[in-house]
This record gives sequence, structure tokens and C-alpha cells, in this order.
Amino acid sequence: MSKDLFQAPDYYQIDDLLSEEHKLVRDAAREWVKRDISPIIEDYAQKAEFPKQIIKGLADIGAFGPYIPEKYGGAGLDQIAYGLIMQEIERGDSGVRSTASVQSSLVMYPIWKYGSEAQCEKYLPKLASGEFIGCFGLTEPDHGSNPGGMVTNFKDMGDHYLLNGAKMWISNAPFADIAVVWAKDETGRIHGLIVERGMEGFSTPETHNKWSLRASATGELIFDNVKVPKENILPKKSGLGAPLGCLDSARFGIAWGAVGAAMDCYDTALRYAKERIQFGKPIGSFQLQQKKLAEMITEITKAQLLAWRLGVLRNEGRATSAQISMAKRNNVDMAIKIAREARQILGGMGITGEYSIMRHMMNLESVITYEGTHDIHLLITGLDITGLNAFK
Ligand SMILES: Cc1cc2nc3c(=O)[nH]c(=O)nc-3n(C[C@H](O)[C@H](O)[C@H](O)COP(=O)(O)OP(=O)(O)OC[C@H]3O[C@@H](n4cnc5c(N)ncnc54)[C@H](O)[C@@H]3O)c2cc1C
Repeated sequence: MSKDLFQAPDYYQIDDLLSEEHKLVRDAAREWVKRDISPIIEDYAQKAEFPKQIIKGLADIGAFGPYIPEKYGGAGLDQIAYGLIMQEIERGDSGVRSTASVQSSLVMYPIWKYGSEAQCEKYLPKLASGEFIGCFGLTEPDHGSNPGGMVTNFKDMGDHYLLNGAKMWISNAPFADIAVVWAKDETGRIHGLIVERGMEGFSTPETHNKWSLRASATGELIFDNVKVPKENILPKKSGLGAPLGCLDSARFGIAWGAVGAAMDCYDTALRYAKERIQFGKPIGSFQLQQKKLAEMITEITKAQLLAWRLGVLRNEGRATSAQISMAKRNNVDMAIKIAREARQILGGMGITGEYSIMRHMMNLESVITYEGTHDIHLLITGLDITGLNAFK
């Protein structure tokens, strides 16, 4: 890939809304992405491999559990700092951000919020330092948008639980040390169980042939009569609301992350449009290209403000799930459209790995689908404003 010349767009001086701590955290993540992600990510995406050597760096910039209390090894930051870290990582690559999101919001968050003190002490510090990598098993082959229909289940065998079933499309699965798995008990109620690599009957085959999130490892989780110790159930919350609470936290991070991917595409296209000469002039001087760029910066600015306001509401404990859905849906849609426009501004060069745009574009096809599809988030907004359920 060409040298990373990224300059962050801030058309509405949104930096003025950030604290000194926010800017320090953001700038550290930005520098790390420039130094440790940009030079290698294209190669890893091309060979469809997660760059495991970056795990320590992710931990060092506070990307694993940014808002988890320091006593458990987290960074103890607020929600805006968490969002800014996700923005910067996804500016580099959505797959790398996915690893950080899963670790923070889908593994550390449920252990912190729904786990026992012993579980917090056992797992959170190792997850924060990157010594352990986690994954989150909710989706099943026959239950994606409708996770409540899951068939993965466990039986109480007296001194342990017996877990059976399968999960699909699980980020980090192929190399995860632990999995937070959602399964039904004998009454049909959903619980979270911590399953550790090495438990007999537990396997994690990798999913190949992806054209999207190629630098993120995706796999299945297979449970064939896995004996899970009783102390591994998350005791403080059950029901579908438990995994959905984790998804709120992850979707919030995605709303910020998508802004990062869009900023990178815009910045690349703007620079290219000023340098590329056709018909004796920079292509950025043509009205058609200016329309694209002007609309991009407008949409990025709106998305930045949406993410920032949502961060304020989350810091105050007032953000609703429906507000988070709106931001995830809007910002990912904004980013994918900007990636497509930016790709065109680069002409033929836009399809090559010399530039990040095509990789962002393909990554965003997963981001618009996972953690609730574009359609499902629209239905959540529809339900919220009308009170009428259009899901079934
Ligand atoms: C790369 C990647 C990584 C992922 N990582 C994880 C992970 O770590 N953990 C995890 O648990 N899951 C993960 N997922 C799974 C992801 O969350 C699901 O793919 C997503 O929820 C959609 O489910 P589905 O693919 O089964 O699609 P489906 O639910 O089958 O949906 C197919 C289409 O039907 C539409 N649709 C469905 N229901 C309705 C309705 N009621 N009304 C209108 N339209 C509807 C959808 O919007 C979609 O367009 C990942 C997915 C990908 C691609």
C-alpha cells in the first residue's frame, strides 16, 4: 500500500467538543494505526490472515476494554474515548476494529456486567492485556436476525452443564482462548456460558473464501457434548436481553468505527483528486468530482456529530437501544456509500491494493450486515417511533 498520508477531516471543529484526554487517546490510536497497521494490513487482507502480532499493540492503546474499570485491567475511559479508539482502528481496517469490538463489548462487557466477581478477576485482566482473546457466539446457521430462535442448548447434569449445538460467523473464533456462548437451558431461557479452548467436544473450524473482513478470522463454534463447569455460567443476567445488551455496546463502537473508514476513503479521494491530471487539469477541478467530495464531507460531518451526541448520551446512561440502532445504521450506510464514490474518483487505481478504499468497501459489506442488518435496524427505529412491531 502507498504511504499512509492520512489527515483527519474535521469540518465542523468537532475537536472542540472533545476533552484533552479524548484527544490524547485518539492521537495515540491514530499514531499506532499509521505505524503498525497501515504498512501491513493490505498484505494480511490479501492473504486472508489476521495479523496476530498486533494484539499487544491493541492492548497498549487501550482497545481491549477501554471503559472497563482499571481494577480489572481496563483503561477506565468514558464512552467517547471508546468511540474514538474504534474510529481510529477502523480508519485502518474494519477487521482489526472487529477484533477489538468483540473483545471489548462482546466478551469483556458481558463478563463485567453479568459475571461473578470470580469470573471478572479470572478473565478480565487477561483479556485486557491480550493474553486471552475472546469470541462471542450468538448467531447460528438457521438463526441470524432472529437469535431468539437459537437451538444451541445445555442440560444441568448435577455437577456440570452439558452443551450441544453450533454457532456460525463468529469473529476471532479460530484462535480465541475463550468463547462467551449464548444457549438455552431446559426451560428455553437464554444464558451466557464461558467456554474455554481445550474443553472436550469444543472445536472452532475457520470459515474461508470471504471477500470481506479478510484480515479478521471468522469461524464456527461446535459443541458436541461439551462439559462446562457450573461456575462458567454468567449468573447476573439471562434472557435475550443479555446478549442484546452486549450488542448495544458493540453497535455504539461500530457507529464510530464506520466514521473512521469513511474518513480514510474521503481523505484518500480528496488527495488523489487534487493530484490526478486529466484534460490538463486536476480531476478535483471538475464539478462532478467536487459534488462527490462535497457530499462526502457533509455526510461525514453529520455522522461525526451523531456519534459524538450518542457518546454524550451513553456517558449519561441515557442512550436507548433504538438510538444506537439509528447511529449504527446511518453511519455504516454513509461509509459504504462514501467508499463506493471514493473508489470511482480513483478510477482504475481505486480497485488496487495500492489504496485502502476497495478494502474498506468490501469490509463494510460485513459491517452493514453484522450486529443487526441494515434492514433490522430500520425495523427497530420503526418499532420505536410507531410502537408497532414489523418483525413478524
Ligand atoms: C464477517 C462476519 C462476522 C460476524 N461475526 C459475528 C460474531 O462474532 N458473533 C455472532 O454471533 N455473529 C456474527 N456474525 C453474524 C451476523 O451478526 C449475522 O450474519 C447477521 O445477524 C445476519 O444474520 P444472517 O446472516 O443469518 O442473515 P438473515 O437473518 O438470514 O437475513 C438475510 C436477509 O433477510 C433480512 N431479514 C431478516 N429478517 C427480516 C425481517 N424480519 N424483516 C425484513 N428483512 C429481514 C435481513 O435484513 C437480510 O437482508 C458475523 C457475520 C459476518 C458476515
